[in-house]
Amino acid sequence: MANAKVSPEELKELSEFWAEEGDALTIYVQVATPSELSHREERISAKEKIQQAMGSLKGKSAADRADVQRVLETIGAMKGNGGLAKVIFACHRKGVWREFDVAGAFAPRAEAGTAFALGPLLAQEQTKRYCIALADRNRARLLLLEAGAITEHSQLLDEEKEKIRTTGTSKSVHLERQKEEEARRHFQFLAEHLLHFYEHKDYDCLMIGCRDETWREIEAELHPELKRILVGRFVVDPGLATAEEIQEKAQAIVDGGDRKEEERLVERVVGGAASKGLGAVGLKDVMESLEKGEVRTLLLPAQNGQLEQSVSLCEHCGHLEAQELTKCSLCNGRMRRFAHAEEALLRHAVGRSIEIRRMHWTKLPAPDGIAAWLRFRAEVNTPQALAS
Ligand SMILES: [Zn+2]
Repeated sequence: MANAKVSPEELKELSEFWAEEGDALTIYVQVATPSELSHREERISAKEKIQQAMGSLKGKSAADRADVQRVLETIGAMKGNGGLAKVIFACHRKGVWREFDVAGAFAPRAEAGTAFALGPLLAQEQTKRYCIALADRNRARLLLLEAGAITEHSQLLDEEKEKIRTTGTSKSVHLERQKEEEARRHFQFLAEHLLHFYEHKDYDCLMIGCRDETWREIEAELHPELKRILVGRFVVDPGLATAEEIQEKAQAIVDGGDRKEEERLVERVVGGAASKGLGAVGLKDVMESLEKGEVRTLLLPAQNGQLEQSVSLCEHCGHLEAQELTKCSLCNGRMRRFAHAEEALLRHAVGRSIEIRRMHWTKLPAPDGIAAWLRFRAEVNTPQALAS
């Protein structure tokens, strides 16, 4: 059975798994939900890609072939998988089969090696949840955008509205004024519930979709806390807009914000590295900073495994070495060689309160395409520290 979440304990256990024979199998596959008919082609190709990759892995032993067969059957039986990605770690020889259905965006991947490819999971960013409120003077709709998927939650508002309606409203005011007052109350009602949902941690950022002429009326009712988390507004007809149209407009705002934030971070890190400040660029310098405990945020390329150099990691103390060693030079523990530097670096980062960020818009400086934002810069370098 597939688990919905990978617990930190499971992640730790999987990260320590080692298969000397190179038969640790890793699969990441994601298919769109069946309702997304327009994406049918992508869905088929993601599945096919994995099936082809599995074919080329061609298990050497009967045990390998058993894993490949089981993966093919599992993927073959997948429909939409509820928009979730299927992640499988398997090693038939050692009796390991772990299957997860996880939220998030993952590139299709199938490979066999000495270790499981955990990069995509270890570097999984905390996805922000965007509440999208659509409103005109009569209507209000609520949608949630998370990890590229949109869902409608307007019934939450309708239910609340029903409670109020039964208590009745004053009918003494003039008709025109009454209409104004009703609109104001309607926006106030929406704003109050947006605040309520935010305070209950139902979402992280807010977006408003409305016609230009209603924006001022809505804005007037927003609590300062809501204005603080408001990341954008777009023009839409709240009654007619389809989920696809809303998602497209909202996603453009999300992407624009992410891109700016990312560009600022890279600029700061590259500038910091050049001035011997709070930045490190390139595998060698990043590894050195990791060893010294200086790293606040590790910046990685969007695609896992782009960093082709091998790196050794001590399974005991987490010491990193560019060269191939059997014994750790610090603690004498066993060193493991990872074909993808990223896998070693991310395992080192586990439990060290290091934030991991993948760059989706910005290229990190060549040739390694890796960088780090530092908390501080240690006064002495490692060889000096060891010599003293
Ligand atoms: Zn060690």
